[in-house]
Formats: sequence, structure tokens, C-alpha cells
Amino acid sequence: MSAFLTLVPCASCGTFFSCNSTRVPSLRLNANGQPDPAGLRYPVCRACWDRRQAYRRERGLPEEHLMPGAYDPEEEGDRDED
Ligand SMILES: [Zn+2]
Repeated sequence: MSAFLTLVPCASCGTFFSCNSTRVPSLRLNANGQPDPAGLRYPVCRACWDRRQAYRRERGLPEEHLMPGAYDPEEEGDRDED
């Protein structure tokens, strides 16, 4: 089984980063770049994720769950063929 990196721009800061596209946290945005539950998923980098969790902690909100391996290379077969 081989592993590969998916390199994508962060939806929040624009930095390119590697991730597992099926596990990485993402924002749903519409064509205007505004948050939209019906929008497309855009991945968020680790730095922005950590900043968001720090923001939530400061305000007494529960931290969100990060899927294991979200920022690790993908294994062949992780991704649906489409
Ligand atoms: Zn970012």
C-alpha cells in the first residue's frame, strides 16, 4: 500500500498544507466565500484549527473533535474514487 500527500490551500489563511482529504477538518463555503451549510467543503490547516480551538477554550466552548490522521499522508484506498 502506498501513501501520498494531498497539498491544498487553507480556507482560512491560504497557506498550502498537506492533509488526508477525507479526515481533515473543513469549512463549508458558498461561491462568495461565505460560511454556508450547503456550500462546498474547504480544508483548514493545522495552525488555523489550533487557533480556532484556543478561541473556543477562551470562551468556555467545548473543543471540536479532530479525526485521527487528519494531517497525515493518505493511504491508497482512503479516498473514494470519483
Ligand atoms: Zn490556515
